[in-house]
Amino acid sequence: MTQKPTATQQPAAPQTAGATGILAGDPRLLIDGELTGATGGARFEVIHPGNAQVVGTAADGTVADLERAIGAARTAFDTGDWSGDVAFRQHCLMQLHDALERNKERLRRIVVTEVGCPISVTGSQIEDPIAEVKHWADYGRDFDYLVDTGVHRAVIGTARRTLSFEPVGVVGAITPWNVPFYLNIAQTVPALMAGNTVVLKPAQLTPWSGSELGRIVAEETDIPAGVFNVVTSNANAVGAALSADPRVDMITFTGSTATGRAILAAAAPTVKKTIMELGGKSAHVVLDDAKLERVLPMSAMVACVMSGQACIMASRILLPRSRYHEGIEILQAAMAATSVGDPWNPSVLQGPQISEAQREKVLGLIASGVADGARLVTGGGIPANLPVGYYTEPTLLAEVDPNSRIAQEEIFGPVLTVTPYDTDDEAVAIANNSIYGLSGEVSGADADRAFAIARRLRTGNVTVNGRSHFGLTSPFGGTKQSGLGRRNGDEGFREYLEIKTIGHPA
Ligand code: NAD
Repeated sequence: MTQKPTATQQPAAPQTAGATGILAGDPRLLIDGELTGATGGARFEVIHPGNAQVVGTAADGTVADLERAIGAARTAFDTGDWSGDVAFRQHCLMQLHDALERNKERLRRIVVTEVGCPISVTGSQIEDPIAEVKHWADYGRDFDYLVDTGVHRAVIGTARRTLSFEPVGVVGAITPWNVPFYLNIAQTVPALMAGNTVVLKPAQLTPWSGSELGRIVAEETDIPAGVFNVVTSNANAVGAALSADPRVDMITFTGSTATGRAILAAAAPTVKKTIMELGGKSAHVVLDDAKLERVLPMSAMVACVMSGQACIMASRILLPRSRYHEGIEILQAAMAATSVGDPWNPSVLQGPQISEAQREKVLGLIASGVADGARLVTGGGIPANLPVGYYTEPTLLAEVDPNSRIAQEEIFGPVLTVTPYDTDDEAVAIANNSIYGLSGEVSGADADRAFAIARRLRTGNVTVNGRSHFGLTSPFGGTKQSGLGRRNGDEGFREYLEIKTIGHPA
């Protein structure tokens, strides 16, 4: 997914445009401590999805720019103090935390400008990631980097064995557009606090959530040159080069499963460590004793907030046949009542899709569902009152065949599909009938039965009766083709560390 390149231009200071809150971010790369234009000065346009207008430009970094950034990160890791000085890292990341707090409203406007997510739901995109910086700074300060495991019997005599947890090296972070500022933080800050150096490659559609982070690091923190680099680009070749470069030790990636496969292949020759947070197609198993009038309106809301562009959203609703029509009526009313519109309006819950291409993909999948025999209950098109911008109607499809394309492919739109089932076993089989295994949901009055069903879902995360699995202190990630490795929790921090086992005299 790319945008139109613009003519060569010189970097300029960020601009504010209009009274709606639209704000252009910094159009520069951060390489080796320097805020700079791309080689040759090329830029590409950034579009506000709420009105389809070009609102500014970002530096169109080249593979040569990326290679300079990797070189700087390599030198900073190999020759600087960063990897060995925990107290300094904590100091720098707390500076970053405070600087992000100062820049909070600017960052919020940039996220709404480039993503089109409603301003009403930016807490999880701005406040949460800023708090996350402090969390990792404290976590990394208190972490035990040397663990004495006691005396062990060895082939010759005995040995004391000490585990030394050490940074992996140069980490390449490749991020998607749906929650860009949050993921730029979530994929780089624990890596930095663990002592790695980082090259961040943000998504084409949301370059400013990355470039602003670069600007803040360069202007408002003591993070040394080369430790943190940001290369925005309109070309997939830059992410591909980051994945393949032998000077990069690890890739942390969030994005589609298709891109994840390409990155794994590119990273294979140099056997890079990887974290892959990929696509999802999560199911919500609604049991026959569930309080439908409580559970289903929440499912509809979650499907529409972020315009369905959320990897963990439970987009497949499985309803017991005995309560199927009751459930459809509740979902239909809730989807139809969703406020869709201008993301700057604080009463709006659903904004636009990120791009015209993304909306076309969503509408195409809805059409495929209908062609495959699903019943269109509500929505299915472009809202008549919102012809400008990339808006999509909240859409409900019923009687969806679990093997059909719309039940198998990630939609990333405000669309719920509903499939009836007869027994708990059948519900579990339908839920697990997917290449994905990111998350899932179970609702039912009998908490033990709901918990038992949750344990049978082949996913990395499950919400039972609305109690969220997601949070900074618990591991998050996917099984099957939804990913490798975990973010968050102790496990998420350890991903950015290698374990060295040292045998030494007792
Ligand atoms: P994408 O895979 O198209 O792009 C993600 C990033 O990869 C972008 O920065 C892109 O420039 C880069 N890229 C593209 N081709 C590349 C290549 N060959 N080599 C290296 N990098 C390359 O994903 P997207 O459309 O930006 O984001 C949506 C996807 O992200 C959805 O599938 C969604 O489920 C997933 N996602 C997953 C999680 C999770 O935690 N599991 C969270 C958010 C989004």
